[in-house]
Amino acid sequence: MNAGWRVGIGYDIHRLVDGRPLVLGGVRIDWPQGLLGHSDGDAVLHAVADALLGAAALPDLGDLFPDTDPAYQGADSRALLAEVVSKVAAAGYRPQNIDCIVHAERPKLSEFKEPIARSIAAILELDPGAVNVKAKTNEGLGPLGSAEGIACTVVALLRTDD
Ligand code: MG
Repeated sequence: MNAGWRVGIGYDIHRLVDGRPLVLGGVRIDWPQGLLGHSDGDAVLHAVADALLGAAALPDLGDLFPDTDPAYQGADSRALLAEVVSKVAAAGYRPQNIDCIVHAERPKLSEFKEPIARSIAAILELDPGAVNVKAKTNEGLGPLGSAEGIACTVVALLRTDD
């Protein structure tokens, strides 16, 4: 039985390392370090995907695209998220809105919040106003605060597709 409205939460974190491109929310950011990962390491899109999957009570991103599978080595996370959107649609749900917090000490992301929101909205076929992106530092606390990585927390709302 599918209730009319479903909420889901997603979280992801990747380590920042030298020699990788930085891609957040499908947006390439000019920065000397990037996120380590089997795919492109896009913690924002991974958290969005897990929020959608969680809301639909589907297997999580790691189950769908195992990091042991060579097929997903260097994968563009926009394509992975598009596949997730298809699975969520097949389960009878449509995304309604997305709210994201990107936890990044560096780089400063204020100028990238809108481009990231537009990028996510395009993949989810939502109006740009239905996607919100906030950027927070970790106030220098812990591994995130020393810029060892970037994390993302996402809440997604789905509605029964009827
Ligand atoms: Mg990830």
